[in-house]
Amino acid sequence: MEIRWLGHSAFEIISDDNVKILIDPFISNNPTCQVPVEELNPDIILLTHGHSDHFGDALEISNNTNAPIACIHEISLFLAKQGIRNISVNIGGSFIYRNVKFTMLDAKHSSDIDIVEETVPGGSAASFLITFEDGTKVFHAGDTGLFGDMKDIIGDIYKPDVVLVPIGDKFTMGPFEAALATMWLNPKVVIPMHYNTFPPIEQDPAIFANFVSQFNPNIDVVVMNPDEYFEFNPEDYQD
Ligand code: ZN
Repeated sequence: MEIRWLGHSAFEIISDDNVKILIDPFISNNPTCQVPVEELNPDIILLTHGHSDHFGDALEISNNTNAPIACIHEISLFLAKQGIRNISVNIGGSFIYRNVKFTMLDAKHSSDIDIVEETVPGGSAASFLITFEDGTKVFHAGDTGLFGDMKDIIGDIYKPDVVLVPIGDKFTMGPFEAALATMWLNPKVVIPMHYNTFPPIEQDPAIFANFVSQFNPNIDVVVMNPDEYFEFNPEDYQD
């Protein structure tokens, strides 16, 4: 499976069977993303919440490619009104699409749809666990603060292999909290996100990596550059 960071919280994940999953596609207004919107051709788009730095170009990409947008009920109502293909889901629920299982899980954050002049209610902010056919699990934490269910539910029950966590602070966890979250989620690999996009969320990912190695040195911290690919091979991380 390949993970491509598009900057901020935007990722493209490509399964071994070439299913392309696009998460929080903040592309054209993302100062760290050089990828043109037209280049993206996902099979499915996931939205963790309605804020413009996550919703991004979802409407245009879905329109161009006919990829459905999976999101919480309230955002799906908004999409349905625009005639956009969508998959409505809610916290704790799963669905299968092209042999990949998607589970919406909790996040501690706010959500409204602020890409329109009059903001529209966006339900709750969420996170996504993606389970591939070989059992590999990727967890995208969305925007969130630290909360105990990262350990008791997401870490202990869902056991993600790769986690993507925000470290930017101010609007989400900072490096210290994100490293604690990583320890609780207990993955094989963690990739930091949601930092260095704008001045308010400037962070040095090395500080995050240091905290992670103090809390659990067995977790690999993969610091990516925008438009870089990381290939995750479960065989490399067998106990
Ligand atoms: Zn947000």
